[in-house]
Amino acid sequence: MSVEKPKRMWRRPSWDEYFLKLAMLASERATCPRMHCGCVLVKDRYVLSTGYNGSLPDTPHCYSDGCIVVKGHCVRTNHAEINAICHAARHAVSLAGATAYVTNMPCTACAKALIAAGIGRVVVFSEYHDNLGEHFLGESGVVLDRLPVPEKLIRYDLETYTSAIPSAEQMPSDD
Ligand SMILES: [Zn+2]
Ligand SMILES: [Zn+2]
Repeated sequence: MSVEKPKRMWRRPSWDEYFLKLAMLASERATCPRMHCGCVLVKDRYVLSTGYNGSLPDTPHCYSDGCIVVKGHCVRTNHAEINAICHAARHAVSLAGATAYVTNMPCTACAKALIAAGIGRVVVFSEYHDNLGEHFLGESGVVLDRLPVPEKLIRYDLETYTSAIPSAEQMPSDD
């Protein structure tokens, strides 16, 4: 046995950055060209459910059949948070006490659904034009954290089997 010190240092993302990045990844699956939004529901660092704004199961997508616009909003899709909650419901997964990582500030309807599902904390990195959600989150005692947008790129070097951002400053940690 030998102990090998790492040759390079990496800036490891925090848990919040990690799950926000997963939410960004989920948003890539969105089916509406007007907006791409992703949501990851997490408890004890365990992913309970994910969602993106998309059409109802087995129905046409906005990308193929066009958006159905009512009062300036596309109503063909469910929002990412609703889809994540519904996905958990299909699998009988309780969301009580979970954290919702969302690419955008939840709209009023999604904020209310997250609250009713028992979400205790919401983490976002981008705003949304509908800001009543914040009112309801605050009224219900749900913690709302706005974090900087995480690193947008995912690097994976097949030759060295490494990813993340090289750093000269931070030692790897075990947290
Ligand atoms: Zn649409
Ligand atoms: Zn929404």
